[in-house]
Amino acid sequence: MINLILFGPPGSGKGTQAANLVERYHLVHISTGDLFRHEIKTETPLGLEAKSYIDRGALVPDSVTIGMLNNKVDAHPEAQGFIFDGFPRTIAQAEALDALLKEKGSPILALIALQVGDEEIVERIKKRGIESGRVDDQNEEVIRKRINVYKQETTPVYDYYNLQHKSHTIKGVGTVEEIFSSLCTLIDAAVAG
Ligand code: AMP
Repeated sequence: MINLILFGPPGSGKGTQAANLVERYHLVHISTGDLFRHEIKTETPLGLEAKSYIDRGALVPDSVTIGMLNNKVDAHPEAQGFIFDGFPRTIAQAEALDALLKEKGSPILALIALQVGDEEIVERIKKRGIESGRVDDQNEEVIRKRINVYKQETTPVYDYYNLQHKSHTIKGVGTVEEIFSSLCTLIDAAVAG
């Protein structure tokens, strides 16, 4: 199994690259942000709870997020591997993910962070907000809050996997093809061991 974490701040291109990687490596893409947006759209209790956090740029509590993620992984027993996008965002989530994958006997192969500067992120997300209508993408204050949450609460996850010698960083600025090519080079090297 090839289990990857696509890491990086909001707006760094994780979703775009995940879609390409799914095709190349035949993986199941799990984006917790997409899962939450689906729950909100279908007005489930989980969606209602998550919305209050998402709209103000805060993280949804670990217990809610981890439960949802576990269900999604368990729903794909046939998977040849997963791309985790937007998860884990806290150390507790990383520990829960490692425990889940340990049960399956297939740990995380690599965490790859896409590096993009703050001002570029703000511009990208504002543009996405116009196109997608996402509420959390339309307010600059909320966007900057999400960048801060990433720096404070989520970057420790990079260090967590770095201790396992699994963390890598690539430049998240350039054409989609250039970034995809850097990702594939890294993943192929990790698979080859
Ligand atoms: P994203 O689409 O990944 O940028 O996620 C949008 C929002 O969903 C985030 O700003 C958080 O409020 C929430 N969210 C997504 N993934 C997680 C996670 N792993 N842990 C907590 N909150 C999350």
